[in-house]
Amino acid sequence: MSTHQLPVVVIGAGPVGLAAAAHLVERGIEPLVLEAGDSAGTAVRHWSHVRLFSPWGEVVDPAAEKLLAPTGWTRPDPATYPSGGDWADRYLRPLADALGDRVRTGATVTGVSRSGRDRIVDAGRENQPFVVHVEYADGREQRFLARAVIDASGTWTTPSPAGGSGLPALGEKAAADRITYRVPDLKDPAVRARYAGRRTAVIGSGASAFTALAYLAELAKSADGEGTHAVWILRCGLCATTFGGGETDQLPARGALGLAAKAAVEEGYAEAVTGFRVEAFERAGAGVGAGAAAGDGDGDGYGDGDGYGDGYGYGDGDGAGDGRLVLVGEDGRCLEPVDEVIVLTGFRPDLSFLSEIRLNLDERLQAPVALAPLIDPNQHSCGTVYPHGHRELSHSEQDFYLVGMKSYGRAPTFLSMTGYEQARSVAAAIAGDLEAADRVELTLPETGVCGGAGLFDTPEAEQTDAGGCCTAPEPQLVHLTEQAPAGAGGCCGS
Ligand SMILES: Cc1cc2nc3c(=O)[nH]c(=O)nc-3n(C[C@H](O)[C@H](O)[C@H](O)COP(=O)(O)OP(=O)(O)OC[C@H]3O[C@@H](n4cnc5c(N)ncnc54)[C@H](O)[C@@H]3O)c2cc1C
Repeated sequence: MSTHQLPVVVIGAGPVGLAAAAHLVERGIEPLVLEAGDSAGTAVRHWSHVRLFSPWGEVVDPAAEKLLAPTGWTRPDPATYPSGGDWADRYLRPLADALGDRVRTGATVTGVSRSGRDRIVDAGRENQPFVVHVEYADGREQRFLARAVIDASGTWTTPSPAGGSGLPALGEKAAADRITYRVPDLKDPAVRARYAGRRTAVIGSGASAFTALAYLAELAKSADGEGTHAVWILRCGLCATTFGGGETDQLPARGALGLAAKAAVEEGYAEAVTGFRVEAFERAGAGVGAGAAAGDGDGDGYGDGDGYGDGYGYGDGDGAGDGRLVLVGEDGRCLEPVDEVIVLTGFRPDLSFLSEIRLNLDERLQAPVALAPLIDPNQHSCGTVYPHGHRELSHSEQDFYLVGMKSYGRAPTFLSMTGYEQARSVAAAIAGDLEAADRVELTLPETGVCGGAGLFDTPEAEQTDAGGCCTAPEPQLVHLTEQAPAGAGGCCGS
C-alpha cells in the first residue's frame, strides 16, 4: 500500500485538531482524529465555566464552518462571547459529529514513530509510514499507520508547577489537597464553599490568573462570600504592563480581564506579593522549617565531601498543623498562611510520547525552532507574532507537525485563530499545495502590550512609557492604593 493512501492521524479533538481534520477533508485527504477524552473538546470542557475573551466570530474555523453548513448547523452570533461549555456544545461537538467515524474518542496516543525505524535509523526513514500507538480506557492497545501526523494534543494535561524554579515546590505534592491548577468554577456550590470566606493564594500573571482574581473578588462581594481574600503571588514587580493591554487590547474582553484583576487589587479584595518565587509549601502550625536542615552550613558553595551533595529541604515538623499552607519564598520569606492555593503558571507540552520522533524544538520554549522567536515572552507578547504555517512548524521528521496550543510550547498568548491558520497551512502542505500553504490568510489582534510579557529574567529594559519591565524588584507586598504601579519599579529584573 502506498503511504499516500494512508490517513493523516490528528492527535486530539480540540478546536485545532478538529479544524485540521476539516481542512484535510476539504482537500480530499482522510483524517483519523484520536482523542483521549470521551468526547470532542475534552480539554475545553474542563473549563466550561470560563468565558472566552474571543467572540464567536474568532473561534470558528472557516473550513469547519463549510463542513457544518450542510448539517443544518446554526452559526452563533459572531459578536457574542461563548463560555468554554458553549464552545464545546455548540461548535466542537457538532463538528466532531460531522466528521463522523473519522473521530475516535477514548483513544490516548502513547507513542509515535516511523514504522520499523526508531529515532536513530536514517535508512529509508522518509519512505516509511508513521506508526501511532493508542491505548484505550479498557486497556486495549492498537496501532495505526499514517502518511503524516498532526499533533494537536494541547497542553491542558500538563500545567506548570508552583515552584519559582520551574520544579514543583518542596511539599507541593503533599499539599495537593489544598492546591488546584485550574480556574475554579465558583458557580458550583461545592467549589464555592471551598473558597468562600477563605484566604487564597493565586500564583501566576496571565489571563487565567486575572480571571481567578476577578472571580474571587466577585465572591468576596457576594452575600455568601464575606471575608474571601486573595493573595496574588508574582515573580515580577508590578508595572503598567502587569495587567495586560487593558483598553488598548484589540480583543476588548481579554483587556477587560486584566482590568478586572487590577480592580480586585485596587478595591482591596486581593493583595499583590511581588518578587516572590515559591520554594516550598509548609503546613501552618506544623513547625515550619523544622524538618531537614537547609544547606550544609559550610557556606563554601561546594560539597561537603560525603559524596551525596548537600541540598536542602523542608520538613513538616511533627504534625499536620491546622492544614493551612505557608508559602515559603526562595529568599526564605514565609507568607501568612492561606487556606487554598490556585496555581496558574502556564502549561508545558507533553513530549513523552514523541520520543521516537526527530523534533526541532527551541531549548527555552519547547516550541518549533522557527516559531519560537515569534512568540518568545522574553521578547514580546504583541502583534509582532505574525501568522505562520507549515514552514515555521516543520521538523527534521518530515510530515510531522505540532499545531495548536502545543505548538507554542511554554509560551502564552496562543489564540485559536492562530491555530486555525496553522491547520490550514499544514493541510495544504500535506496535500502538496505549497502555494496555498505559504499564503498568509490571517491578521492577529494585538494585545496592546509590547516589549515583553514580564518574565523576571528579561535581560534588558525595553519598556518605555509603558513602564519598565526589567529592573530588579524588591520583594514586597503591594496595595495598589498605597503604591503607584505604573512605571514605578520594574517588573522583571532578577
Ligand atoms: C481558560 C482558557 C481560556 C481560553 N480562552 C481563549 C479565548 O478566548 N480565545 C482564544 O483564541 N483562545 C483561548 N484559549 C487558548 C486556546 O485557544 C485554547 O486552549 C484551545 O482549546 C486550544 O486548542 P487546541 O486544540 O490546541 O488544544 P486543546 O483544546 O487542549 O485540545 C487538545 C485535545 O487533545 C486531547 N489529547 C491530549 N493528549 C492526548 C493524547 N495523548 N492522545 C489523544 N488525545 C489527546 C485532549 O483531551 C484535548 O481534547 C483559552 C485557553 C484556556 C485554558
